[in-house]
Amino acid sequence: MNWLTNKVLPKIRKLTTAKDTPDNLWIKCSECGQMLFHSDLATNYKVCGHCEHHMRLGPKERFDILFDDGDYDVIELPDVQVDPLKFRDSRKYTDRLKDARNKTSDKDAMIVAHGKMGGNGTVIGVQNFNFMGGSLGMAVGEAIVAASKLAILQKSPLILFTSAGGARMQEGILSLMQMPRTTVAVQRLKEAKLPFIVVLTDPTTGGVTASYAMLGDIQISEPGALICFAGPRVIEETIREKLPEGFQRAEFLLEKGMLDMVVHRRDMKETLSRIVDLIANKKRTEEPVVEPSEEPDAAGENLPAEQPDDQAKAAD
Ligand SMILES: [Zn+2]
Repeated sequence: MNWLTNKVLPKIRKLTTAKDTPDNLWIKCSECGQMLFHSDLATNYKVCGHCEHHMRLGPKERFDILFDDGDYDVIELPDVQVDPLKFRDSRKYTDRLKDARNKTSDKDAMIVAHGKMGGNGTVIGVQNFNFMGGSLGMAVGEAIVAASKLAILQKSPLILFTSAGGARMQEGILSLMQMPRTTVAVQRLKEAKLPFIVVLTDPTTGGVTASYAMLGDIQISEPGALICFAGPRVIEETIREKLPEGFQRAEFLLEKGMLDMVVHRRDMKETLSRIVDLIANKKRTEEPVVEPSEEPDAAGENLPAEQPDDQAKAAD
């Protein structure tokens, strides 16, 4: 019997459970439960073909979709002090940070890149929910300040894709300070008359919703995204009332006037490019055109090179 259970049975089990397909060929949609073919999902921008559920995307995937020919430069972000509060809950903050860095190969939750989108120079920042829930800490604050400075330097619009569980509690007050700090960074863009566009993706909550995520000149969201300060479960438990269907989801907020549009991921690049182009063109027509000549001379000559001389003579 021992020989049977120890030697023969495992071999039979191995044979019967042998997998013909590798694990990563199919992905289950978390919304409708359909099994989706990996390559179909990739060509569909990670949107479920059955229920249109928009799965989460990382910064690199976003940049590849948005920038022309997938051509862009990721900017180096300033380093910040690591774990200034020496914080520890069930685990050390430094250990959590190390895990997140290994998992994503990124330094922190916000990545900033610049390049051409629809032919116009654009700076785009993407918050990665996979990095400690995309939480807003000193590094994310620093990234938004750097993105704003770059946009001002390049005179280009700034687009931020937000996705976060809120402020990074392991950095305490220092993370909360990033709320006014990022607000000032956005204000600088507005003073420079540059567009700031926010694309809210699932989920955008807490301190992020309470700061830069709601300050866009144009507020866009992906379908079905959860956008809130406190989550629906917390509110339900506090007020002890059932919340309406779709409460705090993108479509609900669009109806209530909190958003300008809800855009499917497949139309995102085209929509953003069109908005940026409209604004850039408007700016171009508003900029004073260099007049060919102050006053057309009698001979009708329009050679600009001669003009300064003519004007100098006139001044004499
Ligand atoms: Zn689905």
